[in-house]
Amino acid sequence: MSFTTLGLCDPILKAIEEQGYTTPTPVQKQAIPIILEKRDILAGAQTGTGKTAGFTLPLLELLTHRKRATKKHQISALILTPTRELAAQVGESVELYGKYLPFKSTVIFGGVGINPQKSILRKGVDIVIATPGRLLDLISQDALDISVVQTLVLDEADRMLDMGFIHDIKKILAMLPSNRQNLLFSATFSAEIKRLADGLLNNPALIEVARRNTTSEQVSQLVYPVDSGRKRELLTHLILKNDWKQVLVFTRTKHGANKLSKQLDSDGITSAAIHGNKSQGARTKALADFKDGSVRVLVATDIAARGIDIDHLPHVVNFELPNISEDYVHRIGRTGRAGNIGEAVSLVCIDEIQYLKDIEKLTKQSIKKIILDGFEVDPTIEAKPLSKRGQQRAGGGQNRGRGRGGNGGSAGNRNKNRSSNANRNKDGEQKKSSNGNQRNNRDGNKNTSRNRNTRRRDA
Ligand code: AMP
Repeated sequence: MSFTTLGLCDPILKAIEEQGYTTPTPVQKQAIPIILEKRDILAGAQTGTGKTAGFTLPLLELLTHRKRATKKHQISALILTPTRELAAQVGESVELYGKYLPFKSTVIFGGVGINPQKSILRKGVDIVIATPGRLLDLISQDALDISVVQTLVLDEADRMLDMGFIHDIKKILAMLPSNRQNLLFSATFSAEIKRLADGLLNNPALIEVARRNTTSEQVSQLVYPVDSGRKRELLTHLILKNDWKQVLVFTRTKHGANKLSKQLDSDGITSAAIHGNKSQGARTKALADFKDGSVRVLVATDIAARGIDIDHLPHVVNFELPNISEDYVHRIGRTGRAGNIGEAVSLVCIDEIQYLKDIEKLTKQSIKKIILDGFEVDPTIEAKPLSKRGQQRAGGGQNRGRGRGGNGGSAGNRNKNRSSNANRNKDGEQKKSSNGNQRNNRDGNKNTSRNRNTRRRDA
């Protein structure tokens, strides 16, 4: 099957051809015709499947048949994403695929000045790609009107809920017209997602290209059991011995990401850290340096890495396993994209055994384990399991790998705060305001002590 049979107009086909795409991916094959029929969809498509083109191409096609919104500040299509990085990437795709069409699009997120965004909106825009917080700010300042939006896309909806955007999403939905088309994309499914879908979607077509909560077959997975205190040594060994040129490494905390990045630098491996405490400029630069090969390792927290699309990224390393099993699926989905082969390696210490079991249960597989010569686990070290939700990023796991003189990554930082999951931010750092409430970051530009159940946004 080629793109020409999907009912897309010549300007879109030309742009696709320039991208070198010859065949639609499975999600594109399924989603494009249904979206063109103006039906709602609920798509279980993980990252790397080509889902962005899966919704962007038909969205652009539909716009060519519709009357453009004419009133000031009105837009025709709205794409919501959980993170700035994903918004920027989807924005680039919309620009690329729509380059021979007359539509204007813009990307809106926090952490950068609002005035340039207002002035772009003032000139008239058809498609807005936004993170929820800044979108609401702009609407409240009358810079944007979403009352005639014809197509709404919720991209990576699971992550939006995970990041506590549900209240913002509800506010946004209430401002949209009821006769719109809704496209919901999610890599994983939970009861919460199903509830959102039930309330939002009208007789949706269900599209599932990979089984729920599964990992891509394109990614080979491996676990190296290792003492926590020797993880950094093992990571350096793996990178140098295998001559890995481009490695995305995940840590659970921002502090852990900074620390590991510095240590890798001192081991002679160029690296950069990317997380929510970095300015947007620093995040963009780190990503650009990683993409162009100026830095060999990008150390990231889950949220900062969300949606990052790096062509042919060969290696993902879980320096620490995530406490939320679904995050494992998202993390390793950074590699093995668009039909390429990728490798995902997890360094697992004795404290993390339960996380590993949970991941294997969720993904219905047993991940191959290899103990490397010279990195055998020390049987005298007792497990101090990290509790699943409340303490995972906060408690337990102290002082791992003692006696080895190695570095425990962020393990030593997991003991400070004891709190419920609801009061932790997604990067695992507890932030308390003077009155004890968690400070949430609204798209990175405001610290207001709001909803206690809200996780940090846009980390
Ligand atoms: P996504 O799942 O949307 O993040 O897309 C993953 C990657 O697949 C992106 O780098 C796209 O450029 C690429 N891609 C999307 N559609 C196709 C296609 N039909 N053929 C080849 N590559 C594609």
